[in-house]
Amino acid sequence: MKVPVLIPRIFDHPHTYLSGKFNKLKPGSIVSVPFGKDEEIGVIWDRQEETNRKFKIKTILEKSKFSFNKNLIKFINWFSVYNLVPKGMVLKMFLGDKSFLKESSDKFSQVKIKQKNKFDLNKEQAKSLQEINSFGNNFSVTLLQGVTGSGKTIVYFEKIKESLKKNKQVLVLLPEIFLTNQFNQRFEEYFGFKPAIWHSKITKKNRRNIWQNIINGKLKLVLGARSSLFLPFKNLGLIVVDEEHDTSYKQDDGIRYNARDMAISRGSIENFPILLSTSIPSLETYNNVKNGKYNFTKLEKRYKNFSLPNTEIVSLNLDKKNKNIWIDIKTLNLVRTYLEKNEQVLFFLNRRGYAPFMICKGCGGKLECKNCSIFLTFHKHLKKAMCHHCGYKTEINRKCGKTKLNCEFQMYGPGVEKIFYELKQIFPEKNIRILSSDFLSKKKETKNLLEDIEKNKVNILVGTQLISKGFNFPNLNCIVVVDADFSGMGFDLRSAEKNIQLYNQLSGRAGRFSKDSLIVYQTFDPSGKTLKNILENNQEKFLHEETLLRKEKNLPPFSRLIAIIISSKNEKESFSEAQKIKKNLSQLNKIDILGPVSSPIFKIKNNYRTRLLLRFNKDLFAQKALHKMLKKINISKKIKLTVDVDPLNFS
Ligand SMILES: [Zn+2]
Ligand SMILES: [Zn+2]
Repeated sequence: MKVPVLIPRIFDHPHTYLSGKFNKLKPGSIVSVPFGKDEEIGVIWDRQEETNRKFKIKTILEKSKFSFNKNLIKFINWFSVYNLVPKGMVLKMFLGDKSFLKESSDKFSQVKIKQKNKFDLNKEQAKSLQEINSFGNNFSVTLLQGVTGSGKTIVYFEKIKESLKKNKQVLVLLPEIFLTNQFNQRFEEYFGFKPAIWHSKITKKNRRNIWQNIINGKLKLVLGARSSLFLPFKNLGLIVVDEEHDTSYKQDDGIRYNARDMAISRGSIENFPILLSTSIPSLETYNNVKNGKYNFTKLEKRYKNFSLPNTEIVSLNLDKKNKNIWIDIKTLNLVRTYLEKNEQVLFFLNRRGYAPFMICKGCGGKLECKNCSIFLTFHKHLKKAMCHHCGYKTEINRKCGKTKLNCEFQMYGPGVEKIFYELKQIFPEKNIRILSSDFLSKKKETKNLLEDIEKNKVNILVGTQLISKGFNFPNLNCIVVVDADFSGMGFDLRSAEKNIQLYNQLSGRAGRFSKDSLIVYQTFDPSGKTLKNILENNQEKFLHEETLLRKEKNLPPFSRLIAIIISSKNEKESFSEAQKIKKNLSQLNKIDILGPVSSPIFKIKNNYRTRLLLRFNKDLFAQKALHKMLKKINISKKIKLTVDVDPLNFS
C-alpha cells in the first residue's frame, strides 16, 4: 500500500512510501524511512500529493510506538499555510530531536492534586471563575483582565485544576523571561506537584523526558515559553496565554509566527478553550472583545486592596543633558527619603551599556558597527564598544584623523552603566547593583543578585526592561524612570502601546507591600502625550483612542499586513530584487503593496535589507495567492527572502 510520509525538512508536501509489513499505519503514525542516503523520521500524512515524476518508491523501515494526534496534522497544515512556512519545517519543530524516539526516559509523576496551602478566592475572583466556566469547554477565547496584583493567576489556576480533573492536558504559555523560579514555585505550592518547564535552555535529557510523556499523555501540566506550543500533546484541553500582550510571543527570526495567535488556532482546530490573561490587553485582543469575538471577564480590585504607587514628574532641562548628567537634584531629594528608611530604590532605563554613542573631540568621527548600520554602544565594564544587533566588539583605541594621537571620544546619552557611576559618586556608601542582561549571563549570578535584592542587601538597583518582568521585590518602594521620553527606543505603530505596557508593569513592581510607594518620571517634555496617558492611568480611554487612530490609518486590526524582507550582501541587488518582486506581486488582486524601502536598520550582519509591505482587507486570506505567486517568481539565488505574516517588528 502507498502512504504519504511528511519528512521534517524543507518540503511542503509529503513523499510517497510503501507500507511494507506495517499494516496499521494511520495519519499521525511516526515512522522511519530511507531518504537519499540517510534514514529519516517522518509522519504518515493525511493527503497524497499527486506527482507525475517517476521514481522508485521505497519502503518504510520502522514504526515508532509514538504517534501524533490526528488533529495535529490539521494544525500543522494550517500553520504552514498561514505563516507561509513549508509543512516539513513545521513538523520539524514538533518532532524535536531524533533521540526523542529512541531512548526511553524516566517516568514522570505528575499526579495527586493536593493543595499545600489553602487558597481562597475572594468574591470577585469567584465571580470571574464562574464566568469563565460558563463559557464551556469547547473552543472559545476568553480574556481575563485585571490590574497587577488583582489575583488573576489564582483564577486561572482554578480553571486549570478543573481541566486536570477531567484528565485533560494543560499548557500555560509565558514569555520566556517570566519563567522564573518564583513563578514556578507558585505552581508547585498550588498544585502540589512540579509542573514541567519548557524553554530554550532546558537540558536535552529533560527535553526528551517531557516530549515522550506529553505524546503518551502521562504528563498533564506544562509551563512553557512560546516553543512549547510545538509539543505533541495527546489530549490537550486548555491553553492559558499569560501576559498575552507581550510582543515576545512573536518569533522574529527563523520561522516567524505569533505563539498567542497560533495557540488560538490550535484551540479552534482541537476544540478546547483558550484563556488570555493580562493587565492591559493588546489592541488586537481588545478589539476582538469589543466586537464580540472573545469573551471577557475582569478583576477590578488590587488583591488585599493595595493602592497603586504615587507619581511625581521631574522636569529636566537641556543644560543637564549638555553636561551629561542624568539624575536631577529633585529626583535625588525624593530618593533620599526612601533610602533613609532603608527601602530600595530602582532606577529604570531601558538601555544597556554606558553610552549609546560617542563622538571624537578631534575628528568628529563616530563609532559604527562594521557589520550593521548602527552606532556602537560603549560598555565600560568591558572597556569596549559593542553592537547590540550582531554582538561585534571592538577596542576604542584608533588613530585620529586630525590629531595624530588616538581618538578622544566624548560619550553621549545615558546607559545603565552611566547611571550606575553617577549614583556611585552621590551615594558612595550604598550598595548599588545593575540588573541587565550583560551582568546576568550566568544562572548563579542572577540567583545571587535576586536573593540579595529580596533580603534587602541591595540599596539601589539600576535596571533595564528585564526588571519589569515577573520578579517580586518586597522592599522596593521607589522607582525612578530616568528617561520617560523614551528617546532612542525606535518607532513602530505599536510604540505607544508598548510604552504603556512597560510602565504598567513597572508600577506593578513597586509598593506591593506598602502604601507610600512612588514612581518618579524624569522628562524633558512634561506635557508629552504618552506620559499624560500613563499618569492618567485610564487604560480603557487609551485603548479606545488608539483603536480610533488605527482605524483612521487603516492599520491592524482593521487591515492585515504581511512584510517581505529581501536581504543580500549586495546593496543594489537587495533593492532591485525587491522592485522585481513588487512588480510580480502587483498582479495580485485587492492587495496594496507599499515600498520597496530600505529597512530602518539597513544593514545587519553584512546583509542589506529592503522591505515590502502588503496590506489588505482584514477579511481577505491572502496567504494562498501570495504563496503561489512567490513560487512562480524566479528569485535570484543571491538574495534571501523572508515572509513575515502579521509583523510586529519593522526594523
Ligand atoms: Zn553589528
Ligand atoms: Zn578622532
